[in-house]
Amino acid sequence: MRNSLIACAAAGAMIGVSLIAQQAPARDAQELEILPVHGSIYMIAGAGGNIAVSAGKDGVLLVDTGTTEMSEKVLAAVQRLQRQLQLREPPVDLHWGAETRGTLQSSLSPLPPTKPIRYIINTHAHADHTGGNERLAKSGRTFTGGNVAGDIADAGQGAAIFAYENVLNRMSAPTGTRASTPEGAWPTDTFHQESMKLSHFFNGDGVQVIHIPDAHTDGDSIVYFRGSDVIAAGDLFIMTTYPVIDLERGGTINGVIEGLNRMLDIVIPEFRMEGGTMVVPGHGRLSDGGDLAYYRDMVTIIRDRVQSMVRKGMTLEQVKAAKPTADYDPRWGADSGFWTTDKFVEAAYKTLVPKTPPAKATATTKKKH
Ligand SMILES: [Zn+2]
Repeated sequence: MRNSLIACAAAGAMIGVSLIAQQAPARDAQELEILPVHGSIYMIAGAGGNIAVSAGKDGVLLVDTGTTEMSEKVLAAVQRLQRQLQLREPPVDLHWGAETRGTLQSSLSPLPPTKPIRYIINTHAHADHTGGNERLAKSGRTFTGGNVAGDIADAGQGAAIFAYENVLNRMSAPTGTRASTPEGAWPTDTFHQESMKLSHFFNGDGVQVIHIPDAHTDGDSIVYFRGSDVIAAGDLFIMTTYPVIDLERGGTINGVIEGLNRMLDIVIPEFRMEGGTMVVPGHGRLSDGGDLAYYRDMVTIIRDRVQSMVRKGMTLEQVKAAKPTADYDPRWGADSGFWTTDKFVEAAYKTLVPKTPPAKATATTKKKH
């Protein structure tokens, strides 16, 4: 079954339709695209940032939630995915999470009626990744709530929302008299260590949330599904443009490279850098270790070029004029839109310029002798 899913994923990617689209008798053109990734993991595209979905007997876990405007469509897509999974042959060779582990019947009977969204994990605070938090969390029920209050009709408390603590700080920070986002969208559970593991398996996966400091923002996490072998990268890795570095929210180019390297540490390609661990990027098409390695090399090479220009004492204008990205611009550059090549070079430059000019430091050292 795993192999046929992968084959479908590959074929689906090539002709631009998903497995779900092929199976569904009629598909509304307005519906979001759902791609099978590996194991229990799917990708919903077109709702802002990409959404990684774990769907199965334990319910649903979402990594990011798209924009606020798209939240009804995301919810509809999740339910459509669950209905499609119910129609499938019952998988007997997979193991499941705490709620269903060890029950023979559950592995032999079809999936129960649509289970709630249990968890949301946010990779960072941006609105194209957290905008659906409130709507989608409200539609769901967290795991402990589901177990404890299963029979009490209105006792559900919504899905839990996990994130690195700076995500909560950013979302609850006042802009004028109000917080920047409504309280219902805020993370309900935050962590401040290097990483966090979900307390139990979910749809067959051990789930690890790993914080990457000062990269795309100061609150980035990647999410690794250890059974399905899928990484949700958030905006640390995107297939659409050069990496976006949010200077106002603590992003740096070196942090982005650290994050890309951290993901490459986890990735094991199946054959010659193709296949194996799959990566759901923050934006753009589904990727694997080869895509990630190419992107890491590109960002590292550009960082090194800008770094050496900074060391030579070149100004931002001089660096821009020297075009340190020129050979990569046809694939990754943009002259217009939200994230232009100019903005990327500027962000890289600003996070590489030392806070104390080195010339001054040398002068001080000389005086001592
Ligand atoms: Zn972002």
